[in-house]
Amino acid sequence: MVVSQLLRPQTHLSYRGRFAPSPSGLLHFGSLIAALASYLDAKHNNGQWLVRIEDIDPPREKAGASSEILKTLESYGLHWDDNVLYQSEQTQLYQGVLAELAQHKLSYHCACTRAQIKAAGGIYQGHCRALQLSKHNCATRVINTAGTSEYHDLIQGQVSCNQQLAQEDFIVRRKDNLFAYQLAVVVDDIYQGISHVIRGCDLLEPTARQLSFYQILGNSAPKFGHFPLAVTEQGYKLSKQNNAPSIDRNAPIPSLIAALTFLGQKPPNELKDANLDELLAWAIHHWSLAKVPKSQEIVL
Ligand code: GLU
Ligand code: ZN
Repeated sequence: MVVSQLLRPQTHLSYRGRFAPSPSGLLHFGSLIAALASYLDAKHNNGQWLVRIEDIDPPREKAGASSEILKTLESYGLHWDDNVLYQSEQTQLYQGVLAELAQHKLSYHCACTRAQIKAAGGIYQGHCRALQLSKHNCATRVINTAGTSEYHDLIQGQVSCNQQLAQEDFIVRRKDNLFAYQLAVVVDDIYQGISHVIRGCDLLEPTARQLSFYQILGNSAPKFGHFPLAVTEQGYKLSKQNNAPSIDRNAPIPSLIAALTFLGQKPPNELKDANLDELLAWAIHHWSLAKVPKSQEIVL
């Protein structure tokens, strides 16, 4: 375990939640649900709600998406506390954590390709651990001394992930030299003192790795809650990659009511005629994580 000098263990005295969109496109209904659920859970608990732009993957970014996302959140009345954090401005901290891992001999360089790992059975077995490869053309993997595969989820209850996958040494710096999502997300959730992470079920499995990483870094982890994903009629997850339609910035009320319904909050009919402040006040007051369904039958 590294007790990171850069990341001091946080004691979570209060609620701090966050919404962490990647600027790979505009907000769609799926990301509105993520923004709204994390916002309402924070505000219902008198907490703070932060926004972090996860812009560490320039090839996947769309020009102007960050500012469009922020404008949309504002027009939906979802105002954030504190300054927006941009991951592109955190590179020194990520480098520092990578250096700490190396110093503690908790990471190594790996030259294996995806095809090689697949051919060896699909699970990375630590092939390069003892090879002392140089950084050149290599990814960096963390030695997964924790191997967390089970955790308690605020919405899903007990979650059990594939044990072999959960025990893999995972990538913290990619071969193309970009920081891996797992590294950046954990470092920033610690850096921002996040106590609660409410997000979609697509991140159920990555959460096990993230929990391992908290342990490796010697930090306590936030609580996690994963709501079901909104899917298209064909059963695909709504995502920027499959061009889910962006939500209408000029008509927040119907989208917010649809998102509340999706989240099991049963908004009363009269809310259709409410203004934005009234609607959000109702939603904060009546928010109940216990009402969020574990899975979602309604297909959009
Ligand atoms: N940036 C990620 C995404 O947009 C979300 C990360 C997270 O909530 O931890 O899918
Ligand atoms: Zn390898």
